[in-house]
Amino acid sequence: MSFDYDLFVIGGGSGGVRAARVAAQGGAKVALAEEDRYGGTCVIRGCVPKKLMVFASEYSGMVEDAQSYGWDIQPGAFDWDKFKSKMHAELDRLEGVYRNILGNNGVETFDQRAMLADAHTVELADGTKKTAKHILIATGGRPSLPDMPGIELAITSNEMFHLEKLPESILIIGGGYIACEFAGIMNGMCVQTTQYYRGAQILRGFDDEARGLVSEEMCQRGVDLHLGTNILEMRKEGDKIWVKATNGDEKLFDQVMFATGRAPNSDGLGLEALGIELGRKGEIVVDQYSQTAVPSVYAIGDVTDRANLTPVAIREGMAFVETVFKGNPTSPDHELIPTAIFTQPEMGTIGLSEEDAREQEPIEVYATSFKPMQQSFAGRSERVLMKLIVSQATRKVLGCHIVAPGAGEMIQLAGIAVKMGATKEDFDRTVAVHPTMSEELVTMKTPTRTG
Ligand SMILES: Cc1cc2nc3c(=O)[nH]c(=O)nc-3n(C[C@H](O)[C@H](O)[C@H](O)COP(=O)(O)OP(=O)(O)OC[C@H]3O[C@@H](n4cnc5c(N)ncnc54)[C@H](O)[C@@H]3O)c2cc1C
Repeated sequence: MSFDYDLFVIGGGSGGVRAARVAAQGGAKVALAEEDRYGGTCVIRGCVPKKLMVFASEYSGMVEDAQSYGWDIQPGAFDWDKFKSKMHAELDRLEGVYRNILGNNGVETFDQRAMLADAHTVELADGTKKTAKHILIATGGRPSLPDMPGIELAITSNEMFHLEKLPESILIIGGGYIACEFAGIMNGMCVQTTQYYRGAQILRGFDDEARGLVSEEMCQRGVDLHLGTNILEMRKEGDKIWVKATNGDEKLFDQVMFATGRAPNSDGLGLEALGIELGRKGEIVVDQYSQTAVPSVYAIGDVTDRANLTPVAIREGMAFVETVFKGNPTSPDHELIPTAIFTQPEMGTIGLSEEDAREQEPIEVYATSFKPMQQSFAGRSERVLMKLIVSQATRKVLGCHIVAPGAGEMIQLAGIAVKMGATKEDFDRTVAVHPTMSEELVTMKTPTRTG
């Protein structure tokens, strides 16, 4: 049977674009449909604009620091309109880069929504049908909102990049990385920031000591964080939003942003009719090669809800091409993924938390928390954390957790050592880079705790 394409990719985000490009470079005839903007969540409403907003917000404290270092400069106002238009110009540029990557590699693109008509047929929104030997679903995810009174007044991370003007006050609901990152951004942009999280501590799943320090420092810097607190009700009051919380507080905010979860984009794709299994959250169930229950259909990235990160979606896309087009069955490696949380202060982490490691085996914990030189000189009281979790039996470093300015950059490099299976003694025989914060990772001699 002959098909229009060797591969039809649905979704032009991180995973889809990479898979389409690499398959096409290998000689496959490839098409891709994108219903919105090329680049997907990461480029248009995720990692990239978020990081630009983190950068913008971090300047607020720098003038004071510079004064402490002898600079005769005065703080000025932050111009949201100026920043926003520059940020969107950058996103337009990046979208163009993504389109060019596809065009230059001979991938045919369709700027419309697509769904599966059968195991080898994609139906586009205009009714056109295209056949393909293989179909790759890379449709990503979207923010999900709870069902509650007044929810139509709330915004999500998607809208944070398009605010008409910066609010004077904002309430952020949630304790995951997206909620915490936006709390830092808004606070840094001088917006009065309140955060409610129903759990006992933010950043669930990460090392307790590390998330505890992030939480403490966020409060220290001005985020009004309420743990064990949720929102009960919202309604419009004048041009504000009135909010009632589970702790009895009734307050007015200019904006309320929910970051309480994301849902995979698996609706309306015709999956159930084809017998493709969906999980409890609606994620597409795949095997270790990203193959669904229908052999010609594969799925990668956030729509499969494995590890929802851009570099993971990209690797899943490359493993798919390796498996299907290069005859080399490859499953994406989800072990020991280094990650950064761009809170203020930043956190970088790889491997097991102290709590999870202790459940697994006897460990040694090496941790040090101190005031870093640069901030301390400027008169700031903030602390950083460098922490290693070591297996008593193998001496391998099972986890590394850093809370510090630049922690994301540091963990990328420490991550190589941990991924290679470095032992505590390997860390110890590496000469310190002095004076840095991360030199502590190779100079901690005595365990803080064992057990
Ligand atoms: C606020 C925020 C911050 C983030 N920060 C980070 C970070 O710092 N680091 C990190 O690694 N990750 C981060 N992420 C996660 C990262 O963005 C995602 O893991 C990544 O984009 C997933 O890639 P993907 O290819 O699976 O899907 P996406 O990038 O979401 O792409 C899916 C594409 O499919 C399109 N689509 C959907 N349905 C259809 C259809 N039926 N037909 C045609 N097109 C369709 C969508 O329009 C979209 O463009 C962040 C996410 C958010 C929301």
